Amino acid sequence: MDEVLRPDMFELKECDFNQIGFYQLRKSIVDIDECYLEQVLIVESNDRTLSSVPKGYAGVIYSKALFLAICEGDIATINSLSQLRVILSRNANHNTLLVTERCNNLCLFCSQPPKKDQDQWLLTYAAQSLAAFDFDGEIGISGGEPLIYGSDFIRFLDFVSVYAPRTRLHILTNGRSFSDLCFTKQISLRSETMKLVFGIPLYSSRAHVHDELVGASGAFAETVTGMINAGNLGINMEVRFIPTKVNADDLPLVVEYISRVFSSVVQLSIMNLEATGWAKKNWAILYHYVDDYIESLRQGISVAEESGLNPTLFNFPLCHLPEQVRPYAVKSISDWKNYYPKECEQCQLLESCGGYFVSSRGKYHQNARRII
Ligand code: SF4
Repeated sequence: MDEVLRPDMFELKECDFNQIGFYQLRKSIVDIDECYLEQVLIVESNDRTLSSVPKGYAGVIYSKALFLAICEGDIATINSLSQLRVILSRNANHNTLLVTERCNNLCLFCSQPPKKDQDQWLLTYAAQSLAAFDFDGEIGISGGEPLIYGSDFIRFLDFVSVYAPRTRLHILTNGRSFSDLCFTKQISLRSETMKLVFGIPLYSSRAHVHDELVGASGAFAETVTGMINAGNLGINMEVRFIPTKVNADDLPLVVEYISRVFSSVVQLSIMNLEATGWAKKNWAILYHYVDDYIESLRQGISVAEESGLNPTLFNFPLCHLPEQVRPYAVKSISDWKNYYPKECEQCQLLESCGGYFVSSRGKYHQNARRII
């Protein structure tokens, strides 16, 4: 307890191999027919046991901790600080790939504050990583705003559908690109066969409140137009709502709005704020304790249930939710940033509870209310 469930970052300063790049990790020497990324061999022993780098490999890393943390064929990046980060792992509870750091929103609680540089190369490496990983299941695509590169994103989808045909993508987007009907039609042609789902945030049914939270004037109009286009073309959408001091009381109205205005909504996700990125600096003006909007939460879930919107609660420790809504909560926090504080020991709900973000430690932490 008190540690992240799955470490994903490893220091390579002492290692012979630490070149910047995207790599596929191997735990044994294998014959590789198709190779989308350079291969790196991970050796369990910390002592150098090989006289040279095996043929076909970019390098060898001797690390017991890394060897034990990964599966054969996992994907990793090495950065300029000689840190290796495992970005796709068969050991992970969820896998998410970042395909750009650019965005046309500036959300007050953005977990990945956007950058302005062109970074299409991330999309290319993401496509190659997905082909190399060849995962039979769902992988999240995030940014930034993944759809910001328009036709390049369509080419990314086409590559994935050919070279990683078993992989289903769940794509987080602000939905504004769907206000372009031609672009949305291009996506819809691929969405059914690729089983795409788009997660789109709608933070209020009042335009100025949504625009204030996403830091972009006119965003609400584009997102709503986009969601109408996408829904009408049969693109599956998960609508996301983050309750804050600014919008928590709007939840029941937002749910009503979603049920009346959009088609093809497969889930309504209500998400507790994560103390990372810009959310930290804006925490005092944004973070709203569940106790302070319990009625709005109950009502929102009830309307969503009646409307067939499949309400789901993300990132809430169960002991901070009223008992009636706990069945809607899922274990949603990725294992590399998930932990359970000491107070959780012996809690009756430990098995079913999603625990805390590791970033909530310190001043953002709300004490667990152990249930025994
Ligand atoms: S005390 Fe129990 S319910 Fe609360 S966060 Fe820990 S495991 Fe979850």
